[in-house]
Amino acid sequence: MTASTRPVGLLTLQGDYGKHRQAFAALGRVTRDVRRPAELDEVSCLVIPGGESTTLTRLIDRGGLREPLRAFAAERPVMGTCAGLIMLAGRLEGERRGDFGVEPLGLLDCTVRRNAYGRQIDSFTAPVGLGALDGSADPFAAVFIRAPRITAIGRDAEVVISHAGEAVAVRQGRLLGLTFHPELTADLRIHRAFLDLVR
Ligand code: GLN
Repeated sequence: MTASTRPVGLLTLQGDYGKHRQAFAALGRVTRDVRRPAELDEVSCLVIPGGESTTLTRLIDRGGLREPLRAFAAERPVMGTCAGLIMLAGRLEGERRGDFGVEPLGLLDCTVRRNAYGRQIDSFTAPVGLGALDGSADPFAAVFIRAPRITAIGRDAEVVISHAGEAVAVRQGRLLGLTFHPELTADLRIHRAFLDLVR
């Protein structure tokens, strides 16, 4: 099996990976759960789902996944959604570091602020344009749940989706990070665009 025909990897440590599994299944793609470093060898790409980045940090470090994930992302596509974007980020704003904090993987050249729209009740859905991502014209219903904000973007990353004048998705080569949850609607365009990065 060549690298690009392997299953789609889902980091299933925590969070709403089940909905991503359904989205890829609807696109006819098999997924494989990734919880251990060796399982990264069996997948073509990886999704880090939304959930809770404090918990993800702890489980990534406890599982010895930090360096293997960084090495994987140097070669294969990785999509991080919401807490997954926080984990991909280069820098966090307004966070303390340390045992109970969030320690991002430092892969995407951007700065992120967690919970930047307020609390759970401030979650919302908004139409966003996917033109810069896949050239499509119809709006995509983006679901923001205790979402982070991308507060600065470095030279290596480009904005691919915006909302209200702010970046809500960035791409850097084969890395894609979104502040919202593309797996919570039946619209599969973002999952399809991510699979297009797998070759
Ligand atoms: N607020 C969460 C965090 O900081 C992210 C929320 C989500 O993934 N929906 O990890």
